[in-house]
Amino acid sequence: MEQLALFSFPEPPPPVEILEESTSLSRPDFAAYDYIIVAFSGGKDSLACLLVIIEELTEAGIPLDKVELWHHDIDGREGSSLMDWPATRSYCEAIAKAFGLKLYFSWKEGGFEREMLRDNAPTARNMFETPDGIRYAGGTSSKNNTRRKWPQVSADLSVRWCSSYLKIDVASTAINNQDRFLSKKTLFVTGERAQESSARANYATFEPHRTDRRNGTRKMRHVDHWRPIHAWKEEKVWAIIEKFRVAPHPAYDSGFSRVSCMNCIFMSSNQAATIQTFAPEKLVPVAAYEQEFGCTIHRTLTVMERAAKGTPYSSSSKASMARCLSESFDEPVIRAPGQWKLPAGAFGECAGPT
Ligand code: SF4
Repeated sequence: MEQLALFSFPEPPPPVEILEESTSLSRPDFAAYDYIIVAFSGGKDSLACLLVIIEELTEAGIPLDKVELWHHDIDGREGSSLMDWPATRSYCEAIAKAFGLKLYFSWKEGGFEREMLRDNAPTARNMFETPDGIRYAGGTSSKNNTRRKWPQVSADLSVRWCSSYLKIDVASTAINNQDRFLSKKTLFVTGERAQESSARANYATFEPHRTDRRNGTRKMRHVDHWRPIHAWKEEKVWAIIEKFRVAPHPAYDSGFSRVSCMNCIFMSSNQAATIQTFAPEKLVPVAAYEQEFGCTIHRTLTVMERAAKGTPYSSSSKASMARCLSESFDEPVIRAPGQWKLPAGAFGECAGPT
């Protein structure tokens, strides 16, 4: 019960009913799982998933020590800073610490940049933190390939390869290569919502995870994939974050409505204009690679053309963007009563993975 004691409100949260009607499908039997892994990007949807888990487990009297946050470092750990918000790593660490949870980072070696620069070379290995230190797997393929172009906006993950190579595959590698998941039951939780796109609307709410081997004869591993907020509208996402009074990622206060990569291939013109205004140095390497590849990050326009077309978010300022560009998030994670505010980016333009 130690982990439960680590998180308690100074006063009970207000009785806001925010969950869907309870069904056996929407509420797995949490007690039956040995591990509950929350894929945590630092964005609002993964935060909402985490809060659902905390709420459900706390109500059921189940200790939180079976919960793990997994964050996939898009830029890796080898020095690239092409894509991610600088504040994201520290924000994830702050959230984990506030709730007394384990946090494991994982990444493709060299991150997005190395994968994009593949030139007649195999994909790099995947690195993942474990309770016993950093491990790696993969990177031994003899299959050489050349990318040297930006992933393209598409629901097809072979075209939009960043999601599969830098997140989905990295998570699968980390599960497949840790014996602690063998002969155990694991719940893998992700925050896709049907409202975001027709592609996401087709995702199942509950299904065997791609690493599931529940019927394996040599190696048995039971892994379920749960999308607890699949049916939620954005209102419910912000409602549960408000209910727990958790500080959202600082990019929301700068007007961004979806937060994952800072230089996401789905960035809107207004987002490009905001970055160009307050952090122009972040777009310089994007533009340089566009020139080098002869392939733009957007289907038709260069990132500078997009920035010129857009209008910086009125909620952005040097100060608000400085919070996003800092590598250290050292603000209170749980806001004081009455201090939580809906960020400017809530209910904004929908610019993110489909
Ligand atoms: S946030 Fe955007 S750029 Fe980053 S991995 Fe996802 S789709 Fe790719």
